[in-house]
Amino acid sequence: MSLDKEFYKNIMNNLPEGMAVCDADRNIIDVNKNFERLTGFFKKDLTGKNISVLIKNTGTNCDNCSQEENKSKSYYIGELIDRDNRSICVRITFSITKDDKIIYLIIPLADVAFLNRAHIDFVSTVSHELRTPLTSIKGFADTLLSSGNRLSADQQKRFLGIIKSQVDRLTRLVEDLLTVSKLESKKDKLIYKAIDLPKFFENIVYSIQPKAQEHQIEVRIMSNLPPVWADSDKFEQIITNLVDNAIKYSNAGTKVLIEAKFVGENPDFMEINIKDQGVGIPEEYISKIFTKFSRIDNPLTRQVEGTGLGLYITKSLVENMGGKINVISNKEGSTFSLMLPVATYEKPTQRKF
Ligand code: ADP
Repeated sequence: MSLDKEFYKNIMNNLPEGMAVCDADRNIIDVNKNFERLTGFFKKDLTGKNISVLIKNTGTNCDNCSQEENKSKSYYIGELIDRDNRSICVRITFSITKDDKIIYLIIPLADVAFLNRAHIDFVSTVSHELRTPLTSIKGFADTLLSSGNRLSADQQKRFLGIIKSQVDRLTRLVEDLLTVSKLESKKDKLIYKAIDLPKFFENIVYSIQPKAQEHQIEVRIMSNLPPVWADSDKFEQIITNLVDNAIKYSNAGTKVLIEAKFVGENPDFMEINIKDQGVGIPEEYISKIFTKFSRIDNPLTRQVEGTGLGLYITKSLVENMGGKINVISNKEGSTFSLMLPVATYEKPTQRKF
């Protein structure tokens, strides 16, 4: 296959929509994998068929939709009839190329609604999260400007302290959002190497120490445990997030245990546990904590800073590295468990992106 053709195939098959290329009489010339999936037909059964057998204009109105296929409007709501004669409601987008071919892009309406809803929810949550610290910064800055000379030095200092902590919160939020956007666009390259756990955990404990003055952090690594196979920056981000949470959501004087060991019979994966004696997570919220912007209301969540993005980022990073994350929690505390690949002799020769 020539490079152009391969490139074209790749684009076609990575589209979220079903795509069909037709001649001017609407006879099918080519389809992508999603079109095969939606209709239940293989490409060889579809080639030469008139697309009007598969898609119908239902005449349903929608904003900006055209009810006719013409050159001025490019999409309408219709029906797709699959191999089993079932019909699903779809959005049909079409365009006519210079050489009079017609390209159809077809997506089930349920998927469009889901994507739009998720997008709207995300934008509205981000706007809210940005507006809260901005309102506070503006309020205290206005007060300092208009009546700063009537405030005591201590009051001025306290207001400046609040402004600084809100700016820190905004910075954290923007950094987390950038990480989320990189993760979702899959632009981040992972550079794997064998990471020796004793040294690695020693560094983590050292750098997190300023936040853990009132907690005891213990590291327990099974003897003869091989190194983990991971991207070291991302691995550091994962463990730091989990230890940071373990400290944030448990009371002073309690212990945080970092533990690494083999479990079961599988020598290809190791288990890393971050165990705290904190407030725990109610069972009904366990499935929600790994989603974006989920903060569970408890007395400590109200006291400590957070964006609700940490565990979403952590889970995505773990899964990008071929691992898994789980949590067990009750009133005595929470244990976040990671399963991560072990570094073997063959692995250093591979580089995965
Ligand atoms: P945040 O920035 O709020 O810490 P995360 O995504 O890291 O966001 O965590 C989501 C929510 O899960 C937290 O707000 C908290 O309510 C809960 N949570 C996370 N880790 C723990 C833990 N170790 N113990 C109890 N609750 C936790």
